[in-house]
Amino acid sequence: MRSFTNSTLLGEQHLSSFDTFKTLNIKFQNIVKKILFELELIGWDPLVRNGLRSQQQANKNKKAGSGAKNSLHLYGLAADIVPADHCDPQMYDQADPQFWEDLASIAESHGLRAGLRFKKRDRPHIDVGWQNKQEYS
Ligand SMILES: [Zn+2]
Repeated sequence: MRSFTNSTLLGEQHLSSFDTFKTLNIKFQNIVKKILFELELIGWDPLVRNGLRSQQQANKNKKAGSGAKNSLHLYGLAADIVPADHCDPQMYDQADPQFWEDLASIAESHGLRAGLRFKKRDRPHIDVGWQNKQEYS
């Protein structure tokens, strides 16, 4: 099994995932690390696809119809986690739906919000919740 922290076993995809991971708020990183580890333990190969996002990028996404203009990604307090073999948005529908379920329930067990449960479903998305933002500054 691949270990997220063992760089000798990481492919290019995983190295870019690690770079993205490092853009996250340091306290949030510790939680995301646990979530990735727990997903690996049950046999998934998760990647961090999006971390910190600039306001410029958020505005662009909003215009393109993906993502919110005001997002916890702007603070490094949200991450998008995807299965390595279905890592692009156009592949999410083909991914094993159990991955999204496991991601959501593990994230929630760490007190995070899961985009899978949002009214406007955002399967890979997890964040700390607006009411907890101050705890991370
Ligand atoms: Zn997101």
